[in-house]
Amino acid sequence: MALKLFNTLGRELQEFTPLHPSQVGLYTCGPTVYDYPHLGNYRSYLFADLLRRVLKANNYQVKHVMNITDVDDKTIKRSQDEKKGLKEFTQFYTERFFSDRDALNILPADLYPQASDYLDQMVALIERLLQAGYAYKSDDGSVYFSIAKDKAYGKLAQLNLNELTTNASGRMKTDEYEKDSARDFALWKAWDKSDGEIFWQTSLGKGRPGWHIECSAMSMANLSESFDLHTGGVDNIFPHHENEIAQSECATNKPLAKYWLHNEWLLVEGKKMAKSAGNFYTLRNIIDQGYAPLAYRYLTLTAHYRKQLNFTWESLTAAQTALNKLEDIMRDLAGSELGEVNEKYHQQFITSLNDDLNAPQALATVWEVVNDAALSPAEKKATLLDFDQILGLGLDQIKPLEIPAEVQKLVEERETARKSGDFSASDTIRDQIEKLGFKIDDSPTGPKIRQK
Ligand code: AMP
Ligand code: ZN
Repeated sequence: MALKLFNTLGRELQEFTPLHPSQVGLYTCGPTVYDYPHLGNYRSYLFADLLRRVLKANNYQVKHVMNITDVDDKTIKRSQDEKKGLKEFTQFYTERFFSDRDALNILPADLYPQASDYLDQMVALIERLLQAGYAYKSDDGSVYFSIAKDKAYGKLAQLNLNELTTNASGRMKTDEYEKDSARDFALWKAWDKSDGEIFWQTSLGKGRPGWHIECSAMSMANLSESFDLHTGGVDNIFPHHENEIAQSECATNKPLAKYWLHNEWLLVEGKKMAKSAGNFYTLRNIIDQGYAPLAYRYLTLTAHYRKQLNFTWESLTAAQTALNKLEDIMRDLAGSELGEVNEKYHQQFITSLNDDLNAPQALATVWEVVNDAALSPAEKKATLLDFDQILGLGLDQIKPLEIPAEVQKLVEERETARKSGDFSASDTIRDQIEKLGFKIDDSPTGPKIRQK
């Protein structure tokens, strides 16, 4: 089955056909590095990672670019509050992001452009828009995009331009705003006192870029003026992606991205997890509570990316339990040889994922494989490892359990005691084994030893 994806542009499920057969360009709006990302942010990057792995499974070569927003209203304000230089401040959070990324087994992007390295490209793009009449300078020297000039403005967020241009008056200088305050937005922000030391002296004057122009410049510089896929969370649809489309397409007269994909919210008690709401958890928070980062990855796979997912400690516990079980199964299979991937299950698994990344359905296939007694261990192992190339649950890292000789000896002694009906001795030995960090499950095929 061909890969189908839900394109926010047009709000429909579409078959994925790449612009160039040799390489697919994927751009993901990356973190604004002013604080530790929360689990909601990671839902967005885990979704992009799933998309990338599914593209790869469909034999596409992917060039993945994820930007780092190191210049915007928030990074500037926070670095000033902490009396740190912008670079030093944002570098710290960028590194934290990379270590969380690795813990979540998110494949590193091919490139992580940082906004502060792309001033020339941003200025050139703004100059192009000024020349083409889509942008204008205001009295303070800032440059604004004129939404009335762009007849296609609103196409992604499905806004009505007539209503917009009659209702909207004035300009918007801040980076983030709601649909009902749609109006001309800042491409270039002339320096003012609140920027302090943070400015660039360019042909546009002394100032700094707006947030939206950053992604237009970085995506086009690192992919091309038109590329295949652009991802982000649903809050990016407006204004960020609408404005990216407006700036880029008015300058180049080409579609910026062919497919626009957006993940839904991670919620906490029914509300969007957000820094501003104070209802957020970081990866460190869940690690401190004894959960593995990959348990969160598993949790995100239990919901379709276009459905909201409510975060609760119960659901994270259930995800951890499921992951532990999968790991135990892989540990049991670790000693067996690697067989052939089961074709029927492989097809079933890929068919689910090719249907707009239906991860919950793909997970159901994982458990079908686990519970299929007709599969040989060699086949089971190969099939689960094949699935894990997309699921990214680290099953390829599971090693056979190393049982110390001392424990092995106690297990044998316990078996002898059990067989001779000495259950009190067998229970005492079980306690001794547990003290050494192992536990025993009696099964019809003999005792199974696990790490506690
Ligand atoms: P930011 O660092 O604020 O630019 O956000 C990074 C990404 O996380 C964006 O794609 C957001 O849409 C996404 N995001 C933020 N909060 C949530 C949430 N609660 N659930 C899912 N995605 C989110
Ligand atoms: Zn962006």
